Amino acid sequence: MFKRDKISAVRAELEALVGGENVRTDEAEILMYSYDAGMARARPEAVIAFTDVAQVAPVVRILYKAGIPFLPRLAGTNLSGGTIPLKGGVILNMCRLKKIRQIDTAARLALVEPGVVNMELQRALEPFGYFYAPDPASQKVSTIGGNIGENAGGPLCLKYGVTSDNVDKLEIVTPEGEVKTWSYRDPGPDLMSLMVGSEGTLGIVTHAWLKILPRPAHIKTASAAFDSLDNAMLAVTRIISDGIVPRALEAMDKVSLDSSLGGKSDRFPKNTEAVLIIELDGDDAVQVKRELELTEHICSANACSAFRVAADEAERDLLWQARKGAYPALARLAPDVLVEDGVVPRPRLPEALRETREILSKYKLTAGLLFHAGDGNLHPNIIFDRRDIQEVKRVKKAGYEILKSCIKLGGTISGEHGVGVEKRVAMNWLYGREELEFFQKIKDAFDPAGLANPDKILPVASDQRGESGGLASRASLSPAARAIVDELRLRAGRGERTAVTGLGTRLKPEHIMEGAKPLGLRSLNGAVQADRANLTARAEAGLPFKEFRRQLEAEGLYLDLPDVDGSVGGVIASKTCPELRDYLLGLEVVTPDGEMLELGGKTVKNVAGYDAVKLFCGSMGAYGVILAATFALSAKPARDRRHPAPAEAANLFEPDSCHLSLKRRLDPGNLLNPWIYRHLEEKR
Ligand SMILES: Cc1cc2nc3c(=O)[nH]c(=O)nc-3n(C[C@H](O)[C@H](O)[C@H](O)COP(=O)(O)OP(=O)(O)OC[C@H]3O[C@@H](n4cnc5c(N)ncnc54)[C@H](O)[C@@H]3O)c2cc1C
Repeated sequence: MFKRDKISAVRAELEALVGGENVRTDEAEILMYSYDAGMARARPEAVIAFTDVAQVAPVVRILYKAGIPFLPRLAGTNLSGGTIPLKGGVILNMCRLKKIRQIDTAARLALVEPGVVNMELQRALEPFGYFYAPDPASQKVSTIGGNIGENAGGPLCLKYGVTSDNVDKLEIVTPEGEVKTWSYRDPGPDLMSLMVGSEGTLGIVTHAWLKILPRPAHIKTASAAFDSLDNAMLAVTRIISDGIVPRALEAMDKVSLDSSLGGKSDRFPKNTEAVLIIELDGDDAVQVKRELELTEHICSANACSAFRVAADEAERDLLWQARKGAYPALARLAPDVLVEDGVVPRPRLPEALRETREILSKYKLTAGLLFHAGDGNLHPNIIFDRRDIQEVKRVKKAGYEILKSCIKLGGTISGEHGVGVEKRVAMNWLYGREELEFFQKIKDAFDPAGLANPDKILPVASDQRGESGGLASRASLSPAARAIVDELRLRAGRGERTAVTGLGTRLKPEHIMEGAKPLGLRSLNGAVQADRANLTARAEAGLPFKEFRRQLEAEGLYLDLPDVDGSVGGVIASKTCPELRDYLLGLEVVTPDGEMLELGGKTVKNVAGYDAVKLFCGSMGAYGVILAATFALSAKPARDRRHPAPAEAANLFEPDSCHLSLKRRLDPGNLLNPWIYRHLEEKR
């Protein structure tokens, strides 16, 4: 545990920067910041409040130099203990940094400080006819900084993507106090996306450029009542696989409905066990109407007992109040609520539901079941009383079993609430030792002293580390892929350097540094594995990207990206098309020393660990060799999307100091595509 006198030693310096009244160590303040919306509790030593964004970097530099742990905090509504100061230290209260600096409708961007409350931004955008898509149920209080910290989602994320997809650029203060500005479009590995969902463990967001969208001309909201949740889930799978992309597709069970609607739940038939809230939007009224009719037809075919389109704004508001107010309503039923946050591939929702109910019944627990159903994201809200120790134990066991069931069904342990303190142990069930070590190297590259929100996300010693072969053992490697893994292991053992080449579209022989032995990936061109029900497909890295799209289209599946030259792996690694990251769900990668990693998966939402999948976009083969990738698809070709022209070849880019420190951790021998980081050689 860190010692209080460390604060005293730097207090005068801190006060000079932020003012004496903003460095607080009094009991009331310490108590107030020793809890958040999760279950964990721990006391900070001090709380520093900022009044100006420019104060953040110098304060962080002082704390880092003094060896004092720190963590950024906003509304504290995260549900995973992300703002609990496990090692004491300082809470950085960013709440007063809440200026909306610019709304630029021409560029479709809003520039905001981290403390802006999500709903305040929506209100500010309304007069311009624009909206910001991520809409967590907590949006009346949760902030943009916290939403970025957790990669928050919400009902609209089904159509418009989660927070990560809606961020264009970030200004970050690194744990050592450097100020950086990164966009996902920058050449080189995607550091901006890595920051999103990193829970304040890799850096602090001080400004965010967010993507804003024009409000669609037509929005239709409907409710569909079912006498079984299973039928509701079957309807969900069918709606999506038929190519309808609702703006939102949410599900609530009877317990949640009754508690949030109170006396008004009689608007649904008596035997209602589940309700879907379905919202469709678009600028073409005829198209919206047609999709609504098709949705109604699908619901009826799955035993929907009442399908009702909201007649006016008041009725629409009532439905959304029911959905977004369900958690607070459930919280009124008992002193405490644990909100689980598992994700499964969408077609596995009925099984996940069945297993969740069995687990709840085994532990004699009551829960309201809420779903971002279109995303396969389930939130059992388990009500309990923390004063009853036996009940708390049962709640924890049930929560863990629900997560294990999601993993077994091909899913993940968090879709939007993050890992924080509370799911660190579950990271061991999801990942193998290799992936966890990879995440640890990322953390060490940014925060060598381990001071930025310490002991979050990654399992600590007492959580027992993962065994080799968690996710990695599930990777179905082809013989060609296995040969590449074996070859890289051999070369790593001998300290030999490798030039990774896809189809040679961008990497020309003259770029290859002398002494690097080529490793061609053309042989990685096995059959595309498409999962029509889940709308995903896995392709090996050597397959020409155009051929991949051709094979998909032959099956009536679509990847909404331009036709670009190069292999699947090459297009990802060279960031030919930066928007590709929006469709990339998972990667299978070999590290420079020949370890297999399986990152991400088949779910459209996943915030378990760092977003290493996106880090590989633009990595130019220098952090690891991509063997295969899994993409999210559409069941219909895109109607009106315009993509920017693909980028020109960028065989070399100017690595940022953070790219360099990642390279030092991930490939200390500079074995892969060594010319990209030749500066490292010169400095040795
Ligand atoms: C009733 C209720 C409903 C909810 N519904 C949803 C939902 O629908 N969808 C959803 O995704 N979540 C939901 N949540 C969870 C929570 O609201 C989100 O995680 C939200 O994004 C947290 O925002 P915050 O401002 O409270 O951040 P905090 O809880 O203060 O912080 C969250 C994390 O971000 C880090 N952080 C804070 N500021 C910064 C910064 N400037 N830079 C980098 N990191 C930072 C923190 O250290 C912490 O790890 C819900 C919570 C509640 C209580």
